[in-house]
Amino acid sequence: MKRICVFCGARDGRAPAYLEAARALGTAIAENGIELVYGGGGRGMMGAVADAAIAARGRVVGVIPRDLFQREFLHRGLAELRAVDGMLERKSLMAELSDGFISLPGGIGTMDELFEMWTWTQLGIHDKPSVLLNVDGYYDSMVAFLDEMTAAGYLAPDQRALLRVAGTVDEALCGLQSAAAPGGVRTG
Ligand code: AMP
Repeated sequence: MKRICVFCGARDGRAPAYLEAARALGTAIAENGIELVYGGGGRGMMGAVADAAIAARGRVVGVIPRDLFQREFLHRGLAELRAVDGMLERKSLMAELSDGFISLPGGIGTMDELFEMWTWTQLGIHDKPSVLLNVDGYYDSMVAFLDEMTAAGYLAPDQRALLRVAGTVDEALCGLQSAAAPGGVRTG
């Protein structure tokens, strides 16, 4: 696995565990010799993942719409910055550059990115795996709702299984790598 894309909040979030997980994930990605692709911001969870990866000598690629440079406090220390023309182009390029996706706690932007990448597997646009990093139970109620969606007949069990849920950074990285390996198990 060459590059992992991380989606996460542009803000810090209230619980210190969220920022700690962001840093731990950035460090682990870099220490595994994997490049980080992310939204290019310099603050909040985004800044924390990127700073940690850079501190661990990792290579970080930011993908950011030009009109968000100021609002998201563009990170000035990235190895590569890809300036794009809007949110759709941002998501397409992030998907193209990356071998899989990990979502940390975040807000509606993070939700949009997570669900878009997951629905693209349902549509056959790509088959890149997604992992939800459920830090401190942040996503418990959403996971329960996804199970309800499956029980109600709107989400096929095999599609549901394509979104792995991890409780720790190690679990998230292992889950993503095994799902993305050639001949690897894409579900479970
Ligand atoms: P949030 O989770 O709301 O803090 O947003 C996290 C990131 O998602 C930020 O970098 C936002 O710019 C980005 N974002 C928000 N809406 C969208 C969207 N519709 N498509 C792609 N990225 C988005």
